[in-house]
Amino acid sequence: MKSHEIRSRFIEYFKRQGHLHLPSSPLVPEDDPTLLFTNAGMVQFKGVFTGEKERPAPRAVTSQKCLRVSGKHNDLEEVGRTARHHTFFEMLGNFSFGDYFKQEAIPFAWEWVTEELGLEPDRLWATVHHTDDEAARLWVELTEIPAERILRLGDKDNFWQMGETGPCGPCSEVHYDLRPDSERGGRLSAEEFEALGEADRFMEIWNLVFMQFERTSEGDRPLPEPSIDTGAGLERIAAILQGTRTNYHTDLFLPIIEAAEEIVGRAYSRKPEDWEEGLPFRVLADHARAVAFMLADGVFPSNEGRGYVLRRILRRAGRYAWLLGRREPTLDRLVGVASDLMSDVYPELSARREHLVRTTRSEEERFLSTIEAGMDRFEEVAPVGGRGTIPGEEAFKLYDTFGFPLDLTQLMAEERGYTIDTAGFDRALEAQRTQSRERSTTPGGAGPGSAGLTEEALRLARGTSAEAEQAFVGYEHLRVETPVLAFDRLDGARAFVLAENPFYVESGGQVSDSGWLRGDGWEVAVESVLRNERDQTVVVGELTRGEVAAAPERVTAVVAEHVRRDTERNHTATHLLHAALRAVLGEHVHQQGSLVAPDRLRFDFNHHGPLTPEERRTIERQVNEAIWENAPVEIRHRPYREALADGAMALFGEKYGDVVRTVRVPGVSLELCGGCHVRSTGQIGLFRIASETGVAAGIRRIEAVTGPRAYARLLETEGLLSDLAERLRTAPAELPRRLEALLEEKQTLEARLAEQRGADSALLVNGLVEAGEPLGDGGRLVVGDAALPPDADAGAFGDLLRERLGSGAAVVHLQIGDDREAILAVVTDDWIGRGIRAGDLVKTASRVTGSGGGGRPHLAQGGVGDSGRVGEALAAAARQAREAAAAGSTG
Ligand code: ATP
Ligand code: MG
Repeated sequence: MKSHEIRSRFIEYFKRQGHLHLPSSPLVPEDDPTLLFTNAGMVQFKGVFTGEKERPAPRAVTSQKCLRVSGKHNDLEEVGRTARHHTFFEMLGNFSFGDYFKQEAIPFAWEWVTEELGLEPDRLWATVHHTDDEAARLWVELTEIPAERILRLGDKDNFWQMGETGPCGPCSEVHYDLRPDSERGGRLSAEEFEALGEADRFMEIWNLVFMQFERTSEGDRPLPEPSIDTGAGLERIAAILQGTRTNYHTDLFLPIIEAAEEIVGRAYSRKPEDWEEGLPFRVLADHARAVAFMLADGVFPSNEGRGYVLRRILRRAGRYAWLLGRREPTLDRLVGVASDLMSDVYPELSARREHLVRTTRSEEERFLSTIEAGMDRFEEVAPVGGRGTIPGEEAFKLYDTFGFPLDLTQLMAEERGYTIDTAGFDRALEAQRTQSRERSTTPGGAGPGSAGLTEEALRLARGTSAEAEQAFVGYEHLRVETPVLAFDRLDGARAFVLAENPFYVESGGQVSDSGWLRGDGWEVAVESVLRNERDQTVVVGELTRGEVAAAPERVTAVVAEHVRRDTERNHTATHLLHAALRAVLGEHVHQQGSLVAPDRLRFDFNHHGPLTPEERRTIERQVNEAIWENAPVEIRHRPYREALADGAMALFGEKYGDVVRTVRVPGVSLELCGGCHVRSTGQIGLFRIASETGVAAGIRRIEAVTGPRAYARLLETEGLLSDLAERLRTAPAELPRRLEALLEEKQTLEARLAEQRGADSALLVNGLVEAGEPLGDGGRLVVGDAALPPDADAGAFGDLLRERLGSGAAVVHLQIGDDREAILAVVTDDWIGRGIRAGDLVKTASRVTGSGGGGRPHLAQGGVGDSGRVGEALAAAARQAREAAAAGSTG
C-alpha cells in the first residue's frame, strides 16, 4: 500500500467516525515560543486541551508535520542509525476534546490497523502505563490481544508529555512484531520487549495518549476534561505494509536515496549486512525532507534559535555528503526531489520550491568553503591514528572560526576514535557570550558633553548602587526633581543613582539618553547611562559648572529632549519597517539585530538576497503611508500569553516576564518592546532608506533616517541639484536634458579629436620617414624626434611608423606631453630577417642615456636617463642598425 493511500485511509476512517479533518499546522508553532518546533499532532491543540481555546469540534483528525530535533523530543542522533527514526516525519492522529475516552480510542485503533490495513492480529502487541489497569483491561476486552501480549511499562515509555510544561497523561502504545515466525511465541518480560524494540525487531507504530493533566512549573493539575490524543508514524506503517523493515526503504524515502546515488555516483545497498555503510545516504534523505519543510514554513538559516537548528541540519547533511566524496552542493538537489515528492499533500513546498533550493545551495556553498579551511585545523587537532580528548577550547575554535557545529566536530572526532571535552566547549561559549554582552553595554558616549570618561571611571560607576528601589519615569517625564539614592566621585566624573530616573538605559537596540543633572550652583553633563549589578540605572557625567563633592539630597534631572524625540521617531519607525519588510518580502523576515539611535536606525533581517529597487521603494512607501495615517501608538501592559495570542512579535530566545509591554500601531504592527516611542506615527514626519547592504550570508541590513534627519537629507540632495543646475546654467528640472546634450557634445568632440590626432600623427610619421636615410635595397633608416600629446599611445604611433616605413628601421626619441620621454624603435619584417631587432636598438640607445629598455623584434620602447645624451644615444643605435644592415646584406 502506497504511503499516500495509508494517509488518506486514516483520514477517511476517522471522518467516518465523526472526526473533523483539519490541516497540519506549520512546523513553527504559531503562538508558542516555549517550543521550537511542532513535535506531535497535539501541538496545535495545546490550548484546546488546557481549556484556554475553544475546541474546533468534539473530534478531529490530522496528518501533522513533525520535527524532532530539539528539546524533550530529539531524535537527531538516531537518524539513519535506527530503522525507524527521522527528524521530520508525519504523524497521523485522532483527537477527542472532552468527547470520547479510552473506551472508544482503543477499539478505533484496533479496527483501523486490523481491518483497514489488514495487519496480522497476532503480530500486534500493546503497552500500558504500569498504573493503568483500566487500559490493560480494555485491550483484553475490546480487541483480540491476549493478556500476555500486553506489557506494563514505566513513565519513560508510557507517560507522554510534549515538553517541560503543557498537557500530558499516561499512554498506551501499539507495537508490531517483526520477528520471523520461528522466533515468535511465548511471553516477554518488559526488559526483553524493550531490548527487541531497540534492535528494530519490534516497531512502535501508534501511541494513544490519555490526556488527563496539565504540567506546570508548580506541578500537575487535572485538565478540565479528559481527552484523547493519538499519534501514529506514517513512515513506520508504510515500512510494515511495504515489507521493507525500515522506513528508509519505503516510497517516502527511496526516490530521494536514488537521487543521491546518482548525484554522488555510488550505489546504496539495501542488504541488511550493508546497513552501516548506507548511513550517509539515509541521513541525506532524511535531512533533505527536514530542510525542505523547515524552509517552506519560514525558518531561515541563522545563528540563533530555529534558524540555528536548520543551519545545523544543513551542515550535518553537508558533512555526510562530504564523507561521500562530494565537494559541491548536494542537498539542494535532494531538497528539490523531496519537495516534488511531497508537494501533492503539502503544496507549500511547490509554492516556494525555488526559495528552498536556492537557500539550501547558498548555505551549502558557504559550508563547503569553510569546511575545507576547517579540515586543516581538524587534522592538527585530531590526527589520524591518534586518540584522546579534544580540548573544549579547540572544539570551540572550530565552531567559532570555521563554523563547525559541535555535533559535527563530535561526529568527525568519533570516527577517528577521539572524544570531546564538551563541558570545556560550553565554558568557552559562555565566556564569549559574556564578553560580547559586556562589549554591547559599553557606552558610546552619546551625551552632549565631551566623551572623556575613562574605562576606570565607568567601571567604578557600575559599582554605584543603593538599597532603595529606583523607578524609571522616562516614558512620561523628561525633566524631574528627584532624591538621590547613591552618589560617587570618580576622578573627574560623578555618578548618581536617582530615585526617579528619567534616563533610558541602552536596551533592545535603543541607545541611552543624554542630558544634564543640576543642583545648587553646579551642573553635570550626562555622558553615560549604565546598569549596575542590582539592575539600577547609574547616570555618569563630568562637571561642567560648580562643584558637587558630597551626595546631594535632590537634583534636577533633564533628558536632552530633542535627542530623545529623534530616538523615539527612529524606534517607532523600526517597528513600521519590520512590518513593511514582512508584508513586502514575506513572513520569513525576522529581526536579526537593530540599533535605534537619535540620528539613524539600523535594522538587520534575514533575507536571501539584495532588495530590488521596486521592493525598496514599496517598503519605504508603506512605512511613510503608516506615518501619514497618524495612527496613535498604543502602549499596554498585559499578560505574555495574551499578547502572543494577539499575534505580538517576540524575539525567540529573549526572556520575557509574565507581564509584558506591547507597542501597537493599529493595523500595522504589534511588538513586545520596552523602548520609547512617539505618541502617534505622524510625529515621525518622514522616513527614508539610506542604504541596503548585506552583512552576512542571508542577512541584510537597512539603514534609514526619519524626521529632521530625513528632511536634512532632502535639503542636501536638493542643494546639490541646484548647485549643479547653476553651474550648468539651467533649471534643476532641465538637468537630465542638459546632461544628455553635454555627453553628446563630448562624444562628438572626442571623435573629432581622435581624427585630428590621427591626422597629426600621420603628418609626423610622414615627415620622419621622408627625412630618413635610404639604406640598402629601397629600405630606410629613420632617426629623429617626435612630440606627442600627453595621453598618446606610443605603441600605436610605432605601428603607424612601421607601416609607413614599408621596409627599414626607425629609432625615435619621443617627448610625450611635458614630462615623459621615451626611445621607440621599430623594424619591418624584412629587416628583422636581416638580423636587426627593435629590442636591441632600444637597449643600445637607452643604455647610452643611463636607462634600460627592450621589447620584441618589431617594436620596442625604452626609458631615457640623461636627456642631454639623447643625440648620442640615437647615433649609437643608428650606427648599430647600419652595421647590422651591411652585415645582413653581405652575409
Ligand atoms: P520511539 O520510542 O520509537 O522513539 P516515541 O515514543 O518517541 O517513539 P511518540 O512520542 O509516542 O513516539 O510519537 C508517536 C508516534 O510517532 C510513534 O508511535 C511513532 O510511530 C512516531 N514517531 C515518533 N518519533 C518518530 C521519529 N523520530 N521518526 C518517525 N516516527 C516517529
Ligand atoms: Mg522517541
